[in-house]
Amino acid sequence: MTTTRFAPSPTGYIHVGNLRTALFNYMIARKAGGTFILRLDDTDPERSKQEYADAIQEDLEWLGLTWDRIERQSARLDRYEEAAQTLRDKGRFYEAFETPTELDLKRKKLLNMGRPPVYDRAALDLSDEQKAALRAERGNGVWRFKLDHERIEWTDGILGDLSIDAASVSDPVLIRGDGQFLYTLASVCDDVDFGVTHVVRGSDHVTNTATQIQIIQALGGAVPAFAHHSLLTGPQGEALSKRLGTLSLRDLRAQGVEPMALLSLMARLGSSQPIELARDMDELLAGFDLSSFGAAPTKFDVNDLFPLTARVLHDLPLSAVADDVAALGVPADKAEAFWNVVRENITVKADMAAWWDLFANGAPALVDDADREFVAQALDLLPAPPYAADSWANWTAAVKDATGRKGKGLFMPLRKAVTGRERGPEMADVLPLLQVKPQL
Ligand code: GLU
Repeated sequence: MTTTRFAPSPTGYIHVGNLRTALFNYMIARKAGGTFILRLDDTDPERSKQEYADAIQEDLEWLGLTWDRIERQSARLDRYEEAAQTLRDKGRFYEAFETPTELDLKRKKLLNMGRPPVYDRAALDLSDEQKAALRAERGNGVWRFKLDHERIEWTDGILGDLSIDAASVSDPVLIRGDGQFLYTLASVCDDVDFGVTHVVRGSDHVTNTATQIQIIQALGGAVPAFAHHSLLTGPQGEALSKRLGTLSLRDLRAQGVEPMALLSLMARLGSSQPIELARDMDELLAGFDLSSFGAAPTKFDVNDLFPLTARVLHDLPLSAVADDVAALGVPADKAEAFWNVVRENITVKADMAAWWDLFANGAPALVDDADREFVAQALDLLPAPPYAADSWANWTAAVKDATGRKGKGLFMPLRKAVTGRERGPEMADVLPLLQVKPQL
């Protein structure tokens, strides 16, 4: 059965970059009728926070990316210890005692010689006595996985055939000196135990994948299908990493971005398929094709989310926004008319407030000097509210008779005087919502 997972570390809020990973894994599972696991990679007790674990779930729920199962790595430490023992038993795990400074020196030496800075496995030559002495002096060492020096190959779901020479990669540290299990061991162990069949993640994980394939094999697990999506950049191709903090899903939500707008963009950005607003998750799923994504970095412009959000809002029935409308103080008998008038004139839901303010309290009139007298005369011809569906037609007919103006010269100054704006809904629809008589 197809099983995927989204595996954020609860060390911060998730952002658009993480969302791509979450969404792709979600869609692969859902399209296949499989299982989507939310896995919290929280083996680092200092940086992992419950607050972030909660926020991640809240953000995914906001988007409708529901999971079938949730797992926490911090609850599986016994299992990782077992896996570590398996690797020891198989002669694939060794303790190393170099200090960070020593490792740094080794790296610099190799780089100076024009060689790749790969760990030299000096620890493999330590006798038991030497290890005991080092342990006494420096405390427990780190545990490294001994890679088989061969080419590691896989067909990547996005990048195609890949091959990495294991000799060009340092034996990965899987357990720290203080006993903390590192992501690589925990992740591999989980992927094997949970029967993960497909792993999609960012291309910054390509080298990890090579080493993870060997660890999975050493643990006797089945190697999942891997795919690595390109990383997001800003609109000019600039690195997004520093700005991702401002592109968290909660920020976007606070800015009024609608879930389906965000999902629709992320489900197509960087693929050969055009960006289209999906009506719902089923439509999104039907159009999703992992193989249509390319290897090139993907440009992301937060501004692209707003036209899509506006389109989501245009199509919403009142029932979907009834609470928001009521919260503005719109009387129930005006809610339908209000929503029908504003939904085509807003970009985000919050824009509704300014329209209701206008209807409830009036807007400062926008009047050109040349029109001042005309507008004053016209307003004299407008009775006090309430207004009805034919109020606009009656009023403009009366103004036309009195002033001789017609067409744009008649309508535009009146629109600007009543709404304080040059554009907006049909005036015939605006007047019945107006609670106060416009003033100059
Ligand atoms: N916690 C890891 C990360 O956020 C998960 C990577 C993976 O998908 O294996 O980078």
